[in-house]
This record gives sequence, C-alpha cells and structure tokens, in this order.
Amino acid sequence: METGGDGMMRAEAVQVAQAAQAAEAQAAQAGELAEVASGGQRGAGRYAPSPSGDLHLGNFRTAVLAWLFAKYEGREFRMRIDDIDAQRSSEESAKQQLRDLATMGIGYEGRLWRQQECWSEYEKALEALRARGLVYECYCSRKDIAEAVRAPHAAPGAYPGTCRELGESERAAKRAELAARGRVPALRLRAGVDEWEVRERFAVGGGVYRGAVDDMVLRRGGNAPKGAGAGVGAGADVGAGAPDSGDAGAGAGASAGGADAGGQVNRDYAYNLAVVVDDALAGVGQVVRGDDLLSSAPRQAYLAHLLGLPPVEYVHVPLVLGPDGKRLAKRDGAVTLRDFPGGAQGMLRWIADSLGEAVDVSAAEAAGVAGAAGAADAAGAGGITPAALLRTFRPELLPREPVTWRPAENAED
Ligand SMILES: [Zn+2]
Repeated sequence: METGGDGMMRAEAVQVAQAAQAAEAQAAQAGELAEVASGGQRGAGRYAPSPSGDLHLGNFRTAVLAWLFAKYEGREFRMRIDDIDAQRSSEESAKQQLRDLATMGIGYEGRLWRQQECWSEYEKALEALRARGLVYECYCSRKDIAEAVRAPHAAPGAYPGTCRELGESERAAKRAELAARGRVPALRLRAGVDEWEVRERFAVGGGVYRGAVDDMVLRRGGNAPKGAGAGVGAGADVGAGAPDSGDAGAGAGASAGGADAGGQVNRDYAYNLAVVVDDALAGVGQVVRGDDLLSSAPRQAYLAHLLGLPPVEYVHVPLVLGPDGKRLAKRDGAVTLRDFPGGAQGMLRWIADSLGEAVDVSAAEAAGVAGAAGAADAAGAGGITPAALLRTFRPELLPREPVTWRPAENAED
C-alpha cells in the first residue's frame, strides 16, 4: 500500500513539475515577443500591403500618412508584406508594390517582414492561449452563425457563442461529423469581455475608441488540409478576416504546415491573430490604416493584451473614395502608379493636396527641389516627396472627411 501510494505521489510530482515547466516555457514565449516589441523606444510605425495586385491611390495615401505620422514623432518605420492569404498573394505583386513604394519615396528601416515567414509565431501565440483554456473548437458554418439567435444587445455579426459551452462528447460527435465531410473545425477565442478600449488619436474624439469584442476566430476551419481527406484548398466556412482595406485584405489563408491534432496541418490563422503577433515581432507601436478597420481594433488590442504584448496606438484615416462615392478601386481607372496622370509626382501632389492644411504643398515642393539638387530625397528628380512634406506636417490639421478621386479633374491638359 505504502509503496503504491508513494509511487502515485511521485507520478503526481512529475506531473506537477511538467506542468510548471510548460507554464514556464509558455511565459518565456510570451516574454520573447514582448521583448522584441519593446526594442524601439516608442515603437515603430508601419505599412503592411497585401500583395494581391497593384497598390492604388488610396493605398499610397494611407502609406504616406503612416510614414508621416511615424517620422513626425521620430519613430522608425517598418514594412511588412501581408501575405497570410497565400492563394491571393504573389511574389511578383509584392516586388512591384515595394518598387512603387520606393518610387513614391516611402522607405523603411530594418528587415522586410513577411507573414508567410511567421507561421511558427502564430502557432506559439495560439498555443499560449490554448494552454490557458482560452481556445475552443467551433463547428458552425456561416449559415449556422447567420441563423443563430442572439442576445438582444449583441453586436451585429458577432459570434453567438453556439460552440462555447459544448461538452466533450458533443464536441467529439460534431468533430466526427465535420471529418466525414473532409472538414475541420475553426478555433475561437474564449473572450472574457465583450468590449475593449483602444488608443485612437484621430478617428474619434477623446483619444479612446471602445468597441465590441466577441469570440473571434483564431484559426479558420473549412476543408481539411491537403492529404487529410476530401477537398483541397482553403474553403473557409467560418471567416474572421479583416475587411480588405489599405491595411490588408484577409480572406482565406493557405492550408499547409503547423501540426494539428491527428497529424493534420492547418495554417489558416485568422488575420486578427496574425496582425497582433506581426506588429509585436516588428516592434510596432503605432498603426496607421484605413478607417474601415476601426471596428476590428478592439478585438486585436484585446488579443494583444491576452498575449501580454504592449498596446499599440491607432490612427485610422478616412479612405479615398471613387467618383461613385464608394471606396476607391482599380475599376475607377488611372489610380495605380503606372497609369496615374503625372506618375509618382502627380500622385504625390494629389495626396499632398488631399491633406489640406496639414501640409504646406508649395513649401514641400521647394524643399523637394532643394533636396533633389543635394541628392537626398527618394522620389527622385525634385518636386514633392514625403520627406519634404514632413517638414511642414501638422497632424492635428488633417481633414477628417474622406477624399474623393475624380479622374476628370486630374486629366492632363
Ligand atoms: Zn460554433
């Protein structure tokens, strides 16, 4: 009896020690990220294009603003290729975008970041949350979610919590049901709040934006990864992508790598998870992006909080609209760098004019010419450059309304 009891205690002690070790490793992981993040003194600014086609006028305006906000405060500036959606991203497009940004005089410090190189970091973050019981499987289809009954105060589109409290046997049954159709469940965050506050210094008065947080998707479900059953490709049923804006289009991701239960692999990490990890890795402290992403900021900031990462400051700027009053798109014509009237200089002038009182365009023009004579500014042979605009930049005077691109007004004589 005694020996038996002793043996049991020893086994328990080993278990406790193992658990402590796991917790320590996990804390070290979180610490790793936090350490990288505090690398810069104030945190860098950044621009993060999705390489799924040419950048257009609206993207460039946001990029120029992100650069100006960062440099105005002496922050470094990071560049990241948001290629988490492998199917919609191409290397050719990434290269072209970087060339175009350089032509526009938008440079960056440090290495070029790419989401495709960060899978293991997303997995670590997911594991850290899972180890704390903050991750659960969701078996719902889009239709299930759309048809679910919600609490009266729930935010529109918020996940209704259908799978949050399922028991293990129910889960096993639903998992098997999906597997029989060659599909895998999504993973959701067990959120402990339904609202979160972020520092937003532009889009709202008071410097604070408060918005809804729900049990967001951390990794999408959908078709089982290749080799794991029927269906190839990422047919994500349950999506939690960010709307496609100047920041990042985030649809379904790739399906490969990242060991899952049963030896399967699934890399369909949600944009909300990836962006938080990415920004921390690159030491980003300020996020300037299109205001269509404002409502997703509280979710991202809450995730950062759970992962022990420092909060970023947000600056959500209005989007450029097309002549039809909708978000500018390539169908609006002549909005990429190659076909814009007057090329890079024409586009920089239009962007400068769109910043209203926040910059002095003629002073920037004179400074740009002077700078070019002395060799410095990146956009080349004189004229307006972001560096020249920076000399008179006054962010508090930026117009708060969206600006509209009207091709007719910009046609060359
Ligand atoms: Zn569900």
